[in-house]
Amino acid sequence: MNPQSKSSKNYLSRQLLTGFGISLATVGLTTLGLNYFLIQSKLEQELQQRAQSITQGVGFSTEGLIELGNTSIIKRIVQNYATLPSVVEVAIVSPNGQTLARSGAELQNLPYASIHPELAQVLEQAAQTGAETSLRTTVDGKPALVEILPFSSTLFGTRDRRGMTIAILDVEEMQLQAGQTFSASTLTLIVGMSVILALMAVMIQRSILQPLQRLNQAVTESQSTDYFVMPSGLSDNEIQFLAQTIQDAVTARVQAYQQIEQEIAQRKQIEAALQLAALAAEAANHAKSEFLANMNHELRTPLNGILGYAQILQHDPATTSKQHKGLEVIHQCGSHLLTLINDILDLSKLEAQKMDLYPQDFHLANFLTTTVEMCRIKAEQKGVAFHYQPDRNLPTAIHADDKRLRQVLLNLLSNAVKFTDFGSVTFTVEKVENRQQENTGFTRLHFQVEDTGIGIAPEKLASIFLPFEQAGKRDRNSEGTGLGLAIGQQIVQVMGSTIQVKSIPNQGSTFWFEVDVAAAADWLNQSETAHQKIIGYQGERRKILVIDDRRENRAVLRGMLQPLGFKLAEADDGHTGLDTALQMRPDLIITDVMMSGMNGLEMTRRLRHLPDFAQTPIIASAASLSQVDVQDAIDAGCNGFFPKPIDFTGLLSELQRHLELQWIYQLAPQTVESSVTASQTADWIVPPATELKALYRAAQDGFMADIQQEADRLKQLDRQYVPFANKMLELSQRFDDEAILNLLQPYL
Ligand code: ADP
Repeated sequence: MNPQSKSSKNYLSRQLLTGFGISLATVGLTTLGLNYFLIQSKLEQELQQRAQSITQGVGFSTEGLIELGNTSIIKRIVQNYATLPSVVEVAIVSPNGQTLARSGAELQNLPYASIHPELAQVLEQAAQTGAETSLRTTVDGKPALVEILPFSSTLFGTRDRRGMTIAILDVEEMQLQAGQTFSASTLTLIVGMSVILALMAVMIQRSILQPLQRLNQAVTESQSTDYFVMPSGLSDNEIQFLAQTIQDAVTARVQAYQQIEQEIAQRKQIEAALQLAALAAEAANHAKSEFLANMNHELRTPLNGILGYAQILQHDPATTSKQHKGLEVIHQCGSHLLTLINDILDLSKLEAQKMDLYPQDFHLANFLTTTVEMCRIKAEQKGVAFHYQPDRNLPTAIHADDKRLRQVLLNLLSNAVKFTDFGSVTFTVEKVENRQQENTGFTRLHFQVEDTGIGIAPEKLASIFLPFEQAGKRDRNSEGTGLGLAIGQQIVQVMGSTIQVKSIPNQGSTFWFEVDVAAAADWLNQSETAHQKIIGYQGERRKILVIDDRRENRAVLRGMLQPLGFKLAEADDGHTGLDTALQMRPDLIITDVMMSGMNGLEMTRRLRHLPDFAQTPIIASAASLSQVDVQDAIDAGCNGFFPKPIDFTGLLSELQRHLELQWIYQLAPQTVESSVTASQTADWIVPPATELKALYRAAQDGFMADIQQEADRLKQLDRQYVPFANKMLELSQRFDDEAILNLLQPYL
């Protein structure tokens, strides 16, 4: 038992006993006071009665004797009465105040008032009034009760004065007696109270404190044992009830504890399992990322071969039209496979929030047309009308990530075609007039794809942008992966916007977004000629060194470039690449990045240390393309980065950029419109005649290079001449000097 409970126990017993003691003392003292008062008044009453009976007795027995004058008997009677207990003095006084008889003294006929002067006034009063008087006073310095009984006797013969019998009784003795009686009862009371208190202490101890003590001990023990043992010998009273309540509470508490402990143990188990699962998930995720990166690399390499050779053979003059169709199918399937690979790679980027953009300048109208053409064919195959409505005010060229933008548009367009069986798909591209953007070099473009297809249920509208979410029926979705919109949305978000959608089931859907794009400065319109076949380039033969550890990748580049007149050398790793470069001094190097032995970046770093290779253009061509890869390549000293599988047209424009090539095109078999209609020229601003002379001369002489030089000069002269100059360039690239002359003549 702890000290606190002990002291509280003592405190409780002390409190109880003090309480009882005070109550007992109060009752006892009150009783004592009352008792004392009663004893005293009873003794006083007795004293007074005795005094009265003495005075009456004396008066009665002496009346006759006084008449006879027998003083000796009177004196004896008085003496007799004076022997009674407590009697101090008995006396008979004549009406004139003379002492007729007085106990304890010889008759001397003295005036009684002179014997007891303190009684003089009372005696006089009693003698006159005749009233019996009883008073408490001090006689001879002692407390006394004086009883005066006046009487009249013929003997005295006076009418107005009376004789008196006087008895003086000792009060002190009576008080002493009362005191003795009071002391006896006080003692009895104290003893009685002590006994009662002792009995009570025992009772409290037995029936309250001891049971409480046992209860307390049981509760204390229950804290360490977790169960409550009911203390023995408790009487059936409140303490037992309290014990019962405590037992219930302890049982409930223990049960609650057990439950909490169980829950904690379970939670710990779950946490441990979760931790394991998280570790496993992390490991799996890591493995997945590694797998994706490897697969990406592994899949792109054979695709580079397939797509590369499809493109090479498409450009081969020996290819028949039947073979062309087959090659087209191979190219389309390969491209589709590439899209799937890209989607899967994008998904991992989406999960890691690592979607990057690689903006570049490109011709917008060409870009949109080629994108549209890819979907128009499918729409037409399904019998769905396809409307393409570009705004007339679209910028010629913009600076944006064309591959990503195409990816988004292709997804929206192919979805529209896929989910529409009747009616039409309408693709609108508009320039959003925005005054705030004036003179900022930025343009806001609004892209919208509207269809009259199956639509999307309202509750599915939000979830279609989540990965793997497909809103429609299985069979219709069998073509897709449910990733397109999730990736598209992420791309558009990185571009600073959001894809929005509205849809009515069975009526159709509209997807749209708006992005701000920068206008491309000094756009040289190469893409317009993309549909024309490049057969060579002007000027001396250029040497290109291709370094790649995969033979098929080297073969693709050789197949693409050799027919155009490039001199190619190959190396299969960085070391050989370095040696070959030193021997052949190439005009441009295309190198793979990941290679066993010395990799492409290390080789580039070493080459850049050699003065002869400080300026040689080096293009890194890798299967994976991330911001880190690009940055690494640039840091190592590469001038450009080109992804695999290699896009032929893209590669050519990259070569043109670095080697400043002038392509030679195969003349298109169809006759190009040689005249330019008034409506076409209406939009151009034509330079003044003086600026056109050199151009006209060059056209007359048929010097295409000069025409192109002049066109470039006009562009530099004023930006407003750019559309006109571009037209000149386009015509010169078609070697259509006649059309140029026709066009210039009206302005000279
Ligand atoms: P998927 O590869 O399945 O097309 P997406 O992410 O592109 O994946 O689209 C997700 C889902 O959104 C589709 O499966 C389809 O249910 C719905 N959806 C997208 N575009 C349309 C549309 N134009 N009409 C009807 N449903 C559409």
